[in-house]
Amino acid sequence: MLQYLTVPVTAFQQNCSIVWCDATRRAAVIDPGGELPRLRAEVRRLGLTLEAIWLTHAHIDHAGGTAQLAREDALPIIGPHAADQFWIDGLAQQSRMFGFPPSEPFTPTRWLCPGGVDDRVTLGDCELEVRHCPGHTPGHVVFVSREAQRAFVGDVLFAGGIGRTDFPLGDHDTLVAAIRTQLWPLGDDIVFIPGHGPESSFGRERRHNPYVRDV
Ligand SMILES: [Zn+2]
Ligand SMILES: [Zn+2]
Repeated sequence: MLQYLTVPVTAFQQNCSIVWCDATRRAAVIDPGGELPRLRAEVRRLGLTLEAIWLTHAHIDHAGGTAQLAREDALPIIGPHAADQFWIDGLAQQSRMFGFPPSEPFTPTRWLCPGGVDDRVTLGDCELEVRHCPGHTPGHVVFVSREAQRAFVGDVLFAGGIGRTDFPLGDHDTLVAAIRTQLWPLGDDIVFIPGHGPESSFGRERRHNPYVRDV
């Protein structure tokens, strides 16, 4: 069964999640935006073997620590979807603009959801589905564990809100459509870990979230 620990990192309090297979203790880190010593300390404390970096999208608060962590710990970079290449190329500029520690671009070992098609990632005995959910960024993906009934959704969906769409290649209608067609069919009981703020469930957002509730 998949386990996870969410560690808010950076000045943006981005919910970086360390996820692992409890049978094998193999772990991945989703969205290492920064504060790498803290993330490494948690991995050590939990007795895990970190084997990959998974990215939902390439905004600085989510991807800022990726190049350094991949290089220093010899980890593959999995994701996001290739349409986020321009955000990866702009990481150094993003870090200056938002006052983050210097951040470097990188080349993912594997892009996810080529052609927008559903994809999969594995971790020990655990398998997660990956879905392309553009709108906040064009290459945004989400990671879903059916077994654990958890979804790591980055900045697609928040408790009571949705991601900003006023960035280059952001689009409000595309984001709302992605939430309705890619997330809701997974079921009301799925608990999601958003990129910022508290967890919620898809069912709760379908009832109460003013941006995407059922009409
Ligand atoms: Zn973002
Ligand atoms: Zn964010």
